[in-house]
Amino acid sequence: MNRIEVSHLIKNYGSNEVLKDLDLTVGNNEVVVMIGPSGSGKSTFLRCLNRLEEPTSGEIIVDGYNLSDSKSDLNQIREKIGMVFQHFNLFKNLTVAENIMLAPVELGKMTAEKAQTTAKKLLETVGLADKYDANPQSLSGGQKQRVAIARALAMQPDILLFDEPTSALDPEMVGDVLAVMKRLAKDGMTMVVVTHEMGFAKEVADRVIFMADGHIVEQGTPQEIFETPQNERTKDFLNKVL
Ligand code: ADP
Ligand code: MG
Repeated sequence: MNRIEVSHLIKNYGSNEVLKDLDLTVGNNEVVVMIGPSGSGKSTFLRCLNRLEEPTSGEIIVDGYNLSDSKSDLNQIREKIGMVFQHFNLFKNLTVAENIMLAPVELGKMTAEKAQTTAKKLLETVGLADKYDANPQSLSGGQKQRVAIARALAMQPDILLFDEPTSALDPEMVGDVLAVMKRLAKDGMTMVVVTHEMGFAKEVADRVIFMADGHIVEQGTPQEIFETPQNERTKDFLNKVL
């Protein structure tokens, strides 16, 4: 079964056509990595997937729910799809654990007690068991991003979207965050990841998608895309980043 089915997705900002008739399906447990030059529409695409942006036209179906159907409950769909951003936006006036517990408790998904147990378990998962009571401001960028991943996981999503989760980090922090993502992939999380980390794409992706200028230019296995790219624009991009 496909978790995500996108067909004929178009997104315009005014007269700027940002997504030009995109089709994409994502299967259960699949890890899809999206690469491509800045401004090609990768973030806009992810934001359409959990309806942070409203598509101009086209259809997006997530777990059988049609996002453009006014009868679909957008909040329910958003609970199924977690998102991790480049900038983690943790609440500074809350502890690490409180940041993780906030949404599930506020939305009535968990009791406070259950949320505490969950936060503890998730902090172990991301390698930060000792930061339960810490203030987010005392953490490094990489630690903050791992808390942000734990926060997304607390909602028990079926699908996780990552938008350049390591781009704002110092190089020495990148590995720990990627290791957490790798572990999630191994445990069967369905993931769409926008990243410039080609090593991660090669190692973890089931499928790599090269996007340019609002189009999916080429897609395939990591081996196909990195070793035998067919399209000139893919070749050109890879020559610049590899
Ligand atoms: P990428 O993530 O691949 O760098 P984006 O999806 O961020 O690309 O941007 C694609 C295009 O859409 C760019 O031309 C950008 O300027 C434009 N864009 C993105 N968000 C907005 C917005 N909220 N309003 C107007 N234009 C936007
Ligand atoms: Mg972007």
